[in-house]
Amino acid sequence: MTKDESALAPYAAFPSRTRGRLYQEPPAEGRTAYQRDRDRIVHCTAFRRLEYKTQVFVNHEGDLFRTRLTHSLEVAQIARGIARALRVNEDLVEAIALAHDLGHTPFGHAGQDALNECMRPYGGFEHNLQSLRVVDELEERYGAFNGLNLTFETREGILKHCSPENARRLGALGERFLQKRQPSLEAQIANMADEIAYNNHDVDDGLRSGLLRLSQLDDVPLFARHARIVRASYPGLSERRLIHETVRRMINALIVDLLQETRARLAAAAPRSIDEVRASPPLVAFSDTMRAEHEQLKAFLRDHLYRHYQVMRMANKARRIVRDLFSAFLEDPRLLPPEHRERAQREGPRGIADYVAGMTDRYAIKEHRRLFAVGEI
Ligand code: MG
Repeated sequence: MTKDESALAPYAAFPSRTRGRLYQEPPAEGRTAYQRDRDRIVHCTAFRRLEYKTQVFVNHEGDLFRTRLTHSLEVAQIARGIARALRVNEDLVEAIALAHDLGHTPFGHAGQDALNECMRPYGGFEHNLQSLRVVDELEERYGAFNGLNLTFETREGILKHCSPENARRLGALGERFLQKRQPSLEAQIANMADEIAYNNHDVDDGLRSGLLRLSQLDDVPLFARHARIVRASYPGLSERRLIHETVRRMINALIVDLLQETRARLAAAAPRSIDEVRASPPLVAFSDTMRAEHEQLKAFLRDHLYRHYQVMRMANKARRIVRDLFSAFLEDPRLLPPEHRERAQREGPRGIADYVAGMTDRYAIKEHRRLFAVGEI
């Protein structure tokens, strides 16, 4: 055990005991294996593209909405706080959180659904698997290997879901999906931090955009309860401050509840190592009451924000752009820029999906215009 590791609980991920990288490399001086993973993620191209990719809103709609980059930073910040409180590895949760959305297509879920549809005859498209593909294959930064050559534990955390079919192809990394085992606590924390982050920032962005009204949230107990406390503590508070005070209290309440429930589960399961964590039922969780409230919030966002007619219109356009691009390239790969044409020659439709998935929102819109707008000739 190194000096850095002495503060960790026995069930944490210890960098000195990592299951290692696909390509052997000498250890980095002055950094642990997971710090090195995090640094590689921050420096990669796909990470910078997150700035121009969005989930609910299209990137150019406003400067104040979350992008996937700010979302990933919020996830990392929440996840690190939880990891520190539970004495597990902060560097590993940070690496997982910063990488978790690297494989996302332009235009969030609408883009991913469209690309999945296009790729159905060729093995489908899953954004989690694509995040792994980015760090394992697509980044071109090293002389000796493709991808970033991250540790097993970071890759395990990135691969949140996976179909049994794909799991079988993935060897050691896919095993847990077939054996129904859990990933490390660090991966479980990053996953829950993702949910906490997006549900709360979507409330904030939804209100800011005017697609949600404050009065609608009276039906969401988690929001209404905290808003009531804020109103009582600060009579006459402006709406903007009321929203921010309420959202930050909701985030805090979710984290406090998560810590309490997770500590109780850890005490009951008493795992003595990361492998015992993997063999236990899920350990990072909300209490039943909080889970129910959190589900209500999610359902509210689904019904009132993600299915808002203006969001549906954007999603419809986004799907059309992705479908059009994919079909045009599939029909005639000579339309692809040279490096992507080579990839498409080597890998077929998967190479085209990689190109489309890598696009930012605005790049996809521009590329669509270049291919289809007659006035651009
Ligand atoms: Mg996310």
